[in-house]
Amino acid sequence: MSSIAISLLDVAEDASPCLAAEDYQTREGKWCAGCGDFGALNAVKRLLAKEQLRPEKMAFISGIGCSSRFPHYVNAYGFHGIHGRALTIATGLKLTRPELDVFVVMGDGDCTSIGAGHWIHATRYNPNLTVLMLDNNIYGLTKKQTSPTTPQGYTSFTTPRGSYLPALDPLQATLGVSNASFVAQTADWVPAHLYATLQVAYAHKGFSFVRILQRCPKFTADVFADNVKNPDNTELLVHKEGVDEPSLEKLFKARREHDPKDIDQARSLAQKTDKLRLGVFFRNESFPVYDEIRAVSPVSAEEKVRRLNKEFDRYAV
Ligand code: SF4
Repeated sequence: MSSIAISLLDVAEDASPCLAAEDYQTREGKWCAGCGDFGALNAVKRLLAKEQLRPEKMAFISGIGCSSRFPHYVNAYGFHGIHGRALTIATGLKLTRPELDVFVVMGDGDCTSIGAGHWIHATRYNPNLTVLMLDNNIYGLTKKQTSPTTPQGYTSFTTPRGSYLPALDPLQATLGVSNASFVAQTADWVPAHLYATLQVAYAHKGFSFVRILQRCPKFTADVFADNVKNPDNTELLVHKEGVDEPSLEKLFKARREHDPKDIDQARSLAQKTDKLRLGVFFRNESFPVYDEIRAVSPVSAEEKVRRLNKEFDRYAV
């Protein structure tokens, strides 16, 4: 059974004007040792400190899963929602409180299985949200069940003979949605790339979908092992409009200049399986943003009453 919890921040409006990364963490993360969620949390804290976001001006929304514990650990408003529904809650919040920075944290099961309908439609609606999809290729919280991104043939407690179907690719799926405006991939074991990607995603106007490949030493310890050990198996997509992190030049020899505005090349790169690719696949800020289209000008209480009375008068007999 899913639980709903609302966490309220404990920061006063008059808190110190300059916050360090550690000021954005409320308590120690309860994940297994070596879990990639720790790295994601660290990158998020660095981003919040760099942007000096006020805890009372932002919200973290999650669904259910290991990574969905995020709102409990970030010093901000938080909503630990129900399974697969983080995007609906976040979209509603952004529509009613457009001045807030809204972040969404989901796992692969949460986003691409039970929440798949919301994922596709939120991508198309393109609300101004920063969306982190932590993909460990398994349902970890429920102890090793096959998720849509589990590699074909991989054994779990739900498919002991191996996953029957090819894995769903979240990049290809998101890039196939009309009005998708930002799609990126990064990995928890490349912290400089993860941090740089989050900065670009946060700066983007629209629905920034970031797939973070996340190590789960408990249940899928081997799936990213080759890439963690050997950087030559990874190609970085670099561009001034995307991520081009100088500190990674020595470590990652395979680099490809990719203009994130090129949707055809983005789709083609997402389909290739010869190497793992990290970077911004697609980015275009010219697409309609739902919270801007639906923005309502504030009206006074008197005006609201006047409009209501006018509406009621239509039915007067
Ligand atoms: Fe992290 Fe996996 Fe442990 Fe969940 S089960 S906390 S994803 S290592």
